[in-house]
Amino acid sequence: MERVIESTANDTEKKFENELRPRKLTEFVGQADLKEKIIIFAKAAKGRGEALDHALLCGPPGLGKTTMARIIAEEMNVECRMAAGPAIEKKGDLAGLLTGLKPFSVLFIDEIHRLNRTIEEYLYTAMEDFYIDIIAGDGLGARSMKFQLVPFTLVGATTRAGLLNAPFRDRFGIVERLQFYNRQELEQICHRSARILDVEMTEPGALEIARRSRGTPRICNRLLKRVRDYAQVMGQGIVTEELAKYALDKLGVDEMGLDQMDLKILRLLLDKYGGGPAGIETISAALSEEKDTIEEVYEPFLLQEGLLQKTQRGRVLTEFAKGYLDRHRSDSV
Ligand code: ADP
Repeated sequence: MERVIESTANDTEKKFENELRPRKLTEFVGQADLKEKIIIFAKAAKGRGEALDHALLCGPPGLGKTTMARIIAEEMNVECRMAAGPAIEKKGDLAGLLTGLKPFSVLFIDEIHRLNRTIEEYLYTAMEDFYIDIIAGDGLGARSMKFQLVPFTLVGATTRAGLLNAPFRDRFGIVERLQFYNRQELEQICHRSARILDVEMTEPGALEIARRSRGTPRICNRLLKRVRDYAQVMGQGIVTEELAKYALDKLGVDEMGLDQMDLKILRLLLDKYGGGPAGIETISAALSEEKDTIEEVYEPFLLQEGLLQKTQRGRVLTEFAKGYLDRHRSDSV
């Protein structure tokens, strides 16, 4: 059975995501508090003729961090340069990015918690005083020179804010956590995406997809894309409730939006550890899944839905989870 949740998107997925990505704040569904703050901060910075303060956007994958970074640039009427933390390996890579920026533009660094320590520290003066030290010359004649940068806004995205060093985190004037989306918001996203993709869909059809989207727009869009295929081949091209239910069951996404790996985590805790506690390393080894992926991709939703609890001694299933698993005993994993 297919895995619907992936931690990173491949190229085809990225193209699809860009097609559906909201470009303006008015198209960005939900996250009302964050949107209000961005409007105010952007307006104030523009009024003062300054770059927007550096911003750190935290939260599980697919909640809209990249989208929001682009929208921030749009609100400020500036360019947005995109980079990924793990891809910035040398000081020279970062210097190249920083010196190529236009005044006031946004530099977006995805997975910023994966920047190496040297690069992170190299960013400090750039963030605080808009300069970096550049080494000129070779060997004994090498000298460190101050290089003035244009004012810019660093927007960092992270699934693991806790992994950022305090001195680094403190250099972001705006630190915001994106929340999981509720049903109504996901329904709205589903309708918006269906309109863009020219898919006909009923209200109950959209609700069914929304319910099973794990509170995440990226998953909502992926599920819509898959259900669209079923509608095209098995229905009259219309996404109805019945069709959505059928397709999503086939895709291994259950009625709460839990996928195969979510259920494996929960069942492992119940069947092998009597409901827990079990350490994250144990779970990771038993399921042959990276510890980071479990912590970044799966756990946040299981915690938010009240299925799992984190304790000093490890992960523990809640009574609600036990009841849920009991009712779904017959489902195959
Ligand atoms: P992240 O950077 O947090 O992993 P993205 O910004 O790449 O997430 O969002 C993934 C996809 O979900 C985007 O392509 C976009 O279409 C959709 N999306 C995210 N947030 C929203 C939103 N608030 N409203 C509508 N669509 C959204």
